[in-house]
Amino acid sequence: MPAPDLHQQFKELVKTTPVVDVHNDLPYQLRWQLHYEINEDKFKFDEPLVSQTDLIRLRKGGVGLQFFSCWMDYPSADELYKDFETPNSIVRDTLEQVDIVKRLVDKYSKCMKFVTSADEALKSYIESDNKLISVTMGVEGLHQVDTSLAVVRQYFDLGVRYITLTHNCDNPFATACTTIIAGKEDKGLTLYGHECVKEFNRIGMMVDLSHVSHKTMVDVLKITKAPVIFSHSSAYTMTPHERNVRDDVLLMVKENGGVICINFVPNFIKKEGATGATIDDCVDHIVHIVNLIGWDHIAIGSDFDGMGATGPEGLEDVSKYPDLVVKVWEKTKASADDIKKFMGINMLRVWKECELVAEALKNELPVEATWSGRKWRFPRYITLCPELFPGAATSTSTPDMFYDAKRFNFKDDEVEYDPKRPGFEAK
Ligand SMILES: [Zn+2]
Repeated sequence: MPAPDLHQQFKELVKTTPVVDVHNDLPYQLRWQLHYEINEDKFKFDEPLVSQTDLIRLRKGGVGLQFFSCWMDYPSADELYKDFETPNSIVRDTLEQVDIVKRLVDKYSKCMKFVTSADEALKSYIESDNKLISVTMGVEGLHQVDTSLAVVRQYFDLGVRYITLTHNCDNPFATACTTIIAGKEDKGLTLYGHECVKEFNRIGMMVDLSHVSHKTMVDVLKITKAPVIFSHSSAYTMTPHERNVRDDVLLMVKENGGVICINFVPNFIKKEGATGATIDDCVDHIVHIVNLIGWDHIAIGSDFDGMGATGPEGLEDVSKYPDLVVKVWEKTKASADDIKKFMGINMLRVWKECELVAEALKNELPVEATWSGRKWRFPRYITLCPELFPGAATSTSTPDMFYDAKRFNFKDDEVEYDPKRPGFEAK
């Protein structure tokens, strides 16, 4: 049993130092289980849920800043690149994820506050006497920007503060670790991905290297001007899985000033040959990282509500962070200041540093690069419009970019809006 005085000391620390969790997948559960219908009483976030996240347990866990993941799935590998070439619904779906996070925070505004900066996150938590959990967002994969850096910028304006460069699929920016698992070549960051990292740095979007391949990690760490995050990854040396971070990369993260947010997914932290994982396995991952690169680069990225039904034994849901902190404290005999770094100070520092890099780059122009594989297509009648200046249109367009637009007529049952017609009533 952990010494009771450390639990007491945790209670003191957490008054001024929030527990920060950098990855929680609750929004996707609201999508598939509720189709985003949270107005009705069937879903009560302030009462106990049987999943891994609710307000009662977030409070018990001392959480003061939560990054909710606005993840969307991707089509099959065969369809993926075709999808990048033509418009698809991924941006709509991601916007719905962003929207549900904001609506959830609005509905429970007595307990949560949407924040857009590191200072605001900490200030709100402390000034509310720990009553308000600060909430912000990450997007889990650049497939969700549909190849466009304009979308990256607009996600930032909506409050998204990190984007993972890949999910479990390559995209026009970078190679994913799943490609390595499949035995294929690790091409790392593409040239377009390079431009993308530049744009992240310029606007203050944090670069998240969870899910990416080893070479992508190394390529990014060589060029980024801001600290990186691994929003939910653990240590490869402890559990050799490509989702985890190898020691050579950990050493680069130390130089870079970034942070590894330890992932609780049992498969990524269990001992070789074991069927499940425990809280002690998680502690071992943390201790390994701390021993190798010190206390400035370790944080928490649980993956709750995105990890399958059960978390590691002893680390089942969002109420269990205090137990993890106390276990780490017991095992390392660290100073209170170091424990505070792990709880949340490191992540807040990295966020703040990314903001400062953006501030220093504020005179740079937006990156206008576009993906070389992009198919630009326009209706042929657009060529009747005047050119901006002589040669403007012909210098960027080729004949195969134009198509004959069909005229669509409404089907018989699609009539004009009529508020009196059944189906049009306001709910
Ligand atoms: Zn993930």
